[in-house]
Amino acid sequence: MKHVYDYAIVGGGLAGASAVQGIRELDTAGEILLVGEEKHLPYDRPPLSKKLWFGKQKVEDIFLHDRAFYDKHAVTLALDTKVARLDPAAKTLTTAGGETYGYGKLLLATGCKPRMLDIPGGDSDGICYFRNLDDYLHTREVAAQGKSAVVVGGGFIGSELAAALNIAGLHVTMIFPGELLCDRVLPDYLARAVQQRFAEKGVRVLASDKPISFGKNGGKFVTRTEKGESVESDIVIVGVGVVPETELAMSGGLEVGNGIVVNEYLETSRPDIYAAGDNAFFPYRALGEAMRVEHWDHALNQGKWAGRNMAGAHEPFTCQPYFFSDLFEFGYEATGEVDARLETFADWQKENDTGVIYYLRDGIVRGVMMCNVWDKVEVARELVRKAERVPPQQLRGLIR
Ligand SMILES: Cc1cc2nc3c(=O)[nH]c(=O)nc-3n(C[C@H](O)[C@H](O)[C@H](O)COP(=O)(O)OP(=O)(O)OC[C@H]3O[C@@H](n4cnc5c(N)ncnc54)[C@H](O)[C@@H]3O)c2cc1C
Repeated sequence: MKHVYDYAIVGGGLAGASAVQGIRELDTAGEILLVGEEKHLPYDRPPLSKKLWFGKQKVEDIFLHDRAFYDKHAVTLALDTKVARLDPAAKTLTTAGGETYGYGKLLLATGCKPRMLDIPGGDSDGICYFRNLDDYLHTREVAAQGKSAVVVGGGFIGSELAAALNIAGLHVTMIFPGELLCDRVLPDYLARAVQQRFAEKGVRVLASDKPISFGKNGGKFVTRTEKGESVESDIVIVGVGVVPETELAMSGGLEVGNGIVVNEYLETSRPDIYAAGDNAFFPYRALGEAMRVEHWDHALNQGKWAGRNMAGAHEPFTCQPYFFSDLFEFGYEATGEVDARLETFADWQKENDTGVIYYLRDGIVRGVMMCNVWDKVEVARELVRKAERVPPQQLRGLIR
């Protein structure tokens, strides 16, 4: 065995990097190992589908910390290294390269991986299941030479990337099975308005359709769809959702459902092993049920919280995540259960096209989305936390 660390963190993403800060708030001396499969230092993912494309951020600005931060906090970095096996009884990790490390406390911050399309050509070279910095760098390079892109998926990642590529000057065709863009989250009228905006910007929208194969014609990709379309493009990007990265947890016999199951202290079913971020199925206190959350603010806070608990804080996780997105001129911040299947009430101001959507179950506010309304997340959080019955007329004007 190479070395026994007081703390080992698997996953060099946002939750993993935040855990370093959490640990160091309480323990300035314990030895920390951070193992990450990507070759890069931990970085922010949201700019990959937004600001990097709009020239508002540069690649060198997306890293969460520079190398000096990890040196200062005495963190041993093992990048470009995949952990292949976990042995909770021996308290060891084994990398794909065969090296074994021991740990006192372990955090699994392994995030999510893209869902693949099980269709002919779905796994061919060049089809990009967009998730990481290398995907951005590759797509950007091809986009600089290419003139057209197919984006499969009408959720937020697909929609953000379609908007980004359109702004970058490419002819973009979107293909997705739903009737409207982002219709799992946006109420019908809003999804319709967003889709209209995409069409006005020149994005070709093939809704209620799906790809049945990807092929090649010379240097171009050819996407064939169920409805009989055949679309040629220089780039194909697929954003059809993600699945939690639980393989390692399963190799160690941890309880896994829709993610790695943790309790309110972010402890898994095995002693001294914690999970946080996109991969953790945790008790969401404000909503009173267990769930998994795939958002930036959540990974940031939960990673840090797990780090503190690994270092002995033993504090129940109480943060209430918020999330955000930008689609052309439409931007929003949201918190709670933002699910278009719930009853919704819109407090909309037509004159400046801003507004707040309340998502209700049995008259209780479960989620709030603030569209082009900024810095009101705390008010929205409080409303969800209170879980009181609020008549719609009282919601009008509550958040402006
Ligand atoms: C393009 C894009 C845009 C986004 N935009 C937004 C947004 O606008 N708003 C928002 O709220 N959220 C957004 N998100 C979501 C947000 O970025 C994620 O919720 C967040 O990154 C989750 O952090 P994490 O640390 O849990 O997981 P990740 O960031 O996925 O990091 C996990 C890391 O673990 C590594 N890993 C996995 N398994 C192993 C292993 N066995 N060994 C070693 N390393 C391993 C992975 O390679 C990865 O680097 C976006 C995500 C993407 C991909």
